[in-house]
Amino acid sequence: MNSSALHCISYGLYVVSSRQGDRLNGQIANTVFQVTSEPATIAVSVNKQNLTHEFIRSSRVFSVSVLSQETPMRFIGRFGFQSGREIDKFAEVQYRIGHTGAPIVLDHALAFLEASVIQEKDAGTHTIFIGEVVDAEILKAGSCMTYSYYHEVKRGKAPKTAPTYIEEQVEEETKGGGAMAKYECTVCGYVYDPELGDPDADIKPGTTFEDLPEDWVCPVCGAGKEDFEKVA
Ligand code: FE
Repeated sequence: MNSSALHCISYGLYVVSSRQGDRLNGQIANTVFQVTSEPATIAVSVNKQNLTHEFIRSSRVFSVSVLSQETPMRFIGRFGFQSGREIDKFAEVQYRIGHTGAPIVLDHALAFLEASVIQEKDAGTHTIFIGEVVDAEILKAGSCMTYSYYHEVKRGKAPKTAPTYIEEQVEEETKGGGAMAKYECTVCGYVYDPELGDPDADIKPGTTFEDLPEDWVCPVCGAGKEDFEKVA
């Protein structure tokens, strides 16, 4: 079996949110899809270990915010790599409470859907929640973030059309002392590539890991420089 075939399946990138009593939580998910149109139903696959799973289970409602292509990695990191058991993910984001009572994240969202769970399916490590759409709105125009865009562009793996500017800069930088090393975050696996820098934090291409400010943190999970290891 060639499991790479699984990577050929296309997805988007979403914040799926729910609540439990007064507590709000949300997480990044790529596995959201429309199931039927009459009535309009959507499904989401959520890992059973996630706090959002617990919340959807108890409140039977969830919302889906469709993220734009411009969503910063720090935002995705906050919702995707940190747990609502440790931080209040809604403390620093704009949101509103929907008809179902589920919170709807508005930051970086192009649209949202809100649903009431009508069925759930045990899928081993995950539960597939199927919800009837109760409300939905377009918030602004833009391109939706796709899962492949997130991996290929946002995570810094060099796109095939790498800008000449960067190549030249790298040659310039490496003349004196060897290639600039990449560093990997031991928490989330993000790789800091000096050729790309960290545009979300105004770190210019050509900045070595050593030259990053000491308070620079992993754009995906928020880990500090000390949690990075040189890629051999
Ligand atoms: Fe990280």
